[in-house]
Amino acid sequence: MRLDALFKPDQPTVSFEFFPPKNDEGWTSLYQTIEQLRPLSPSYVSVTYGAGGSTRSKTIELAGKIQNELGIDVLAHLTCVGHTADEIGAILDQLWAANVHNILALRGDPPGSSVWTKTPGGFEHADELVKYTRGRNNFFVACAGFPEGHPQCLNIHPDLEHLKAKVDSGSHAIVTQLFFDNNDFLRFRDDCRRAGINVPIVAGIMPIQNVSQIKRFVTMCGAKIPNRLLNKLEPLEADSDAVYKAGIEYAANQCRDLMFHGIDGLHFYTLNKSTATIDVVKQLTVRSI
Ligand SMILES: Cc1cc2nc3c(=O)[nH]c(=O)nc-3n(C[C@H](O)[C@H](O)[C@H](O)COP(=O)(O)OP(=O)(O)OC[C@H]3O[C@@H](n4cnc5c(N)ncnc54)[C@H](O)[C@@H]3O)c2cc1C
Repeated sequence: MRLDALFKPDQPTVSFEFFPPKNDEGWTSLYQTIEQLRPLSPSYVSVTYGAGGSTRSKTIELAGKIQNELGIDVLAHLTCVGHTADEIGAILDQLWAANVHNILALRGDPPGSSVWTKTPGGFEHADELVKYTRGRNNFFVACAGFPEGHPQCLNIHPDLEHLKAKVDSGSHAIVTQLFFDNNDFLRFRDDCRRAGINVPIVAGIMPIQNVSQIKRFVTMCGAKIPNRLLNKLEPLEADSDAVYKAGIEYAANQCRDLMFHGIDGLHFYTLNKSTATIDVVKQLTVRSI
């Protein structure tokens, strides 16, 4: 079903992100992960879209399987990278036919290069993809938001204008990049509301499980780890159990604080693993499990 109906005041959605595995072993392991997470009754799950190569068709396959075989609503990511509008149209039609009626419309990043170049006959920015997707079938369409600003946008104000353009083009909701400082998110949400962006804003949460891994992630996505968190984690680096415990505790407190501030939804970046997400969500009162 379309995800619109899920967003209700004082009832945050809880969703999980997966990426399409590259091999059979990965598929088996992902199915186990989904089965382990299923008792948490996710509002929906999302499936990422690769920068290129064979995993792209796997997004359609995985999204269709989760939707139709496991009966969990899916938000399928789709990017503009390397596609003409006609190709995007064909993918959207395949997703629609596979009963996947919810799209996270993204520009994407060019593989192996930091310079974005539009594909001839394709789209320059995500707002064009949002508009195109809204005009094709009756999709629910979400877009990406960046509480700390998009890494390529030097000033947060034009970034907000670009976000507004995505909403004005028809986005029904925003899903944010991961962040660790709730003040960044709450400031971003206030700025959105002041700018007339009134759709639900779902917060991206990643429980930290490994210090060097999370440092790599934040460098790639332009987020920051607050010093108070880093100062806590770095001395524990050699003790993986202690890092895990501290990461879960931080994420659970972060989610509780966001819920206190009336969050629309929590979206967990699972990295195709279940344990950390289960250990965080079990501590929240959004789901009875
Ligand atoms: C929740 C989430 C899920 C993601 N999933 C995936 C995925 O599955 N696959 C993947 O490859 N990537 C994914 N990404 C990464 C995303 O594709 C990149 O961060 C990308 O660089 C930005 O995508 P966007 O949709 O926000 O682009 P846009 O909204 O187009 O913005 C990109 C940049 O262009 C600027 N901009 C936008 N419109 C204009 C305009 N009209 N004029 C000038 N500048 C403009 C923005 O300010 C920003 O700096 C995801 C990101 C998030 C937050």
